[in-house]
Amino acid sequence: MSSRNDCIALDQHDELAPLRNEFFLPEGLIYLDGNSLGVSPKASASRARELIEQEWATDLIRSWNKAGWFDLPVKLGDKLAPLIGANAGEVVVTDSTSINLFKALAAALRIQGLDPAKAQRRIIVTERSNFPTDIYIAQGLSQWLDRGYLLRLVDAPEELHAAIDDDTAVVMLTHVNYRSAYLLDLGGITAHAHQKGALVIWDLAHSAGALPVALNDANADFAVGCTYKYLNGGPGSPAFIWVAPRHLAGFSQPLSGWWGHAAPFAMEPSFQAGSGIKRALCGTQPVVSLALVECGLDIFAKTDMEAIRKKSLALTDLFIDLVETRCAAHPLKLVTPRPHHLRGSHVSFEHPHGYAVMQALIERGVIGDYREPHIMRFGFTPLYLRFSDVWDAVDILLDILDTAAYRPDQDRVAVT
Ligand SMILES: *Cc1c(COP(=O)(O)O)cnc(C)c1O
Repeated sequence: MSSRNDCIALDQHDELAPLRNEFFLPEGLIYLDGNSLGVSPKASASRARELIEQEWATDLIRSWNKAGWFDLPVKLGDKLAPLIGANAGEVVVTDSTSINLFKALAAALRIQGLDPAKAQRRIIVTERSNFPTDIYIAQGLSQWLDRGYLLRLVDAPEELHAAIDDDTAVVMLTHVNYRSAYLLDLGGITAHAHQKGALVIWDLAHSAGALPVALNDANADFAVGCTYKYLNGGPGSPAFIWVAPRHLAGFSQPLSGWWGHAAPFAMEPSFQAGSGIKRALCGTQPVVSLALVECGLDIFAKTDMEAIRKKSLALTDLFIDLVETRCAAHPLKLVTPRPHHLRGSHVSFEHPHGYAVMQALIERGVIGDYREPHIMRFGFTPLYLRFSDVWDAVDILLDILDTAAYRPDQDRVAVT
């Protein structure tokens, strides 16, 4: 790509371009952080107003039924299902990704423990580079269970197959690595793990809404993921959990709150799990935040994940190409895999002063983020980003680097 006009021509032929109108996008900002906090759908503000003024302020408690608050986790799960290759009745939107991971891991370990052929297995396989909360949750649950479960932290994706063996109880992986955007082979790893007798939990935090996921086709076991990243649900919006239909009957999770009960309003003194995916629920949800998840999902319903993936790869290809050619004089090193089948929807470059350069970019209206060590991370969200935005972002990056307009010694803010 040799000019800005070439990028504008791509924008003119972009079938997803009209969807940009569905979002509130601040003037003059190029937002390359939709992989961390998605932008606000325009519909979110009016939905929040309706919810607060009508459903809460006026209708009050009646809204649990009248406005369908009580059914939201299942209703939203049904809307989300097609994006991850699942069916209605298999997903609920609820709690946080960390909490859902805890439930899924506990349930998976229990299923393995009940199988006499596998009850002795004590290994949980994951990647050392996994998002820390995933590792922490597995450590916390293992310690709390106190049955000798051990985490096997694998150092490179190529070593995963060998690390999954006859000792492995559960494999717990993030589909797209939060730092490098490395995309794991969900189908291949799932098949290998099953052949070794292990169960697999997939964290789809950086894949749901970013690329097609085929959970049922891959015969996956469990999945969790965020709604506030690519799905544009809003800050801290509830996450999701998917359970393969074949595991539902045996899916027992320790956060057995009343929303997971077969008859929550029977108010019985003993817990009886509900029959379907509702057994993955725990208790009352933050309804305002939960309801806004629908505004993001409704926009996804206007297109499909294949179109989104196609544009995502075109955007990340363009960004990599422009940075490597136009900024070639500067010490930038691509961290993200080049092959399409190994790449998610963000691009990470290492720079010795990555933090400072990112702060300078943000001051100039190009918002990405920073991850240790030295990594500048740029998220590409096909629903609202233009090819010309990519050009402009690289233009500003080049100017900052050429003029050394960054302060290497500045203090870190709390959220990088
Ligand atoms: C963003 C992210 C999370 C976030 O978990 P929360 O419970 O929402 O804080 C978890 N796992 C991965 C892989 C993520 O990328």
